[in-house]
Amino acid sequence: AKAAGGQRWQRFDPRMDRAADDTARLAADLRGALAGEQFFVLYQPIVSLPDGVTTGAEVLLRWQHPERGLVPPDVFIPVAERTGVIHELGAWVFEQACRQSADWSARFGAGAPGRISVNVSARQLADPDFVDAVAATLRATGADTDHLLLEVTETAVLNAETAIDQLNRLKALGLRIALDDFGTGHSSLSLLLTCPVDVLKVDKSFVSGASAEDAGAIIVKNIIGFTTDFGIDAVAEGVETRDQAERLHAAGYRLAQGYLFGRPMSAEAFEATFQTAAVA
Ligand code: C2E
Ligand code: CA
Ligand code: CA
Ligand code: CA
Repeated sequence: AKAAGGQRWQRFDPRMDRAADDTARLAADLRGALAGEQFFVLYQPIVSLPDGVTTGAEVLLRWQHPERGLVPPDVFIPVAERTGVIHELGAWVFEQACRQSADWSARFGAGAPGRISVNVSARQLADPDFVDAVAATLRATGADTDHLLLEVTETAVLNAETAIDQLNRLKALGLRIALDDFGTGHSSLSLLLTCPVDVLKVDKSFVSGASAEDAGAIIVKNIIGFTTDFGIDAVAEGVETRDQAERLHAAGYRLAQGYLFGRPMSAEAFEATFQTAAVA
């Protein structure tokens, strides 16, 4: 049966009650987790095709819950968004990225990985104080905006009236913007005309197609065509096989991310993947 009846129906389903209880407990735990230092970040390499040289990384948040173990972000980010904890949590992630980036620049100079990507949630982007907070963190950490990129989803941009304005203010700080999970939302190409976007991250659902003839492969080819025309970079997400990487490269992709090149890893492990070559 579907929850078509809404609220009333849910109240009589014990499974729904348990799910709601669980979310409430998770929400309560989330508030304490920041203070309890239960969060940490991992870095997943973004590489150039076809040589696999690291050009940057995406920062991915992890929650080590004292009883539940590792809680995936797909579970706790939506709860953090609903409860408003996302503002503090997102600011913490951005600060980690800035500190790490500044540290790598100081220690590796030109050999540091090009750019650290940070996910920004819809609620953060809709917050009128968001840009000021970002600017303050940049000042406090001394991070170079050339080495940072913010990832926002199409949905976040379409849902907030002020999103384009916020993105333009972030651009004015020197930050670059990526549209994440591109192709999964209700986007239209006209968004690219109004949205100051530097990078499209092509969702893994299109990338993981099994053959060169399936619908995903056709979408992937079309996206690289218009990003090139718009002067936008494209990153293929979720690349797991050598065959996928080869087809993406043949289609014109220069950047990719996925388990083939590296899983999300600690900062220390990521340092080992830097390569100074290729940066001209
Ligand atoms: P996303 O931004 O699309 O991040 C990419 C996700 O794909 C990551 O999952 C990454 O581990 C996974 N992935 C990377 N390569 C592969 C691959 O080859 N195959 C497969 N199957 N998966 C791959 P993760 O780390 O579990 O994060 C899930 C989502 O949670 C992220 O999706 C993002 O929407 C959200 N998230 C993670 N960290 C943050 C954060 O700091 N802030 C916000 N607002 N959201 C975050
Ligand atoms: Ca992302
Ligand atoms: Ca993505
Ligand atoms: Ca995603």
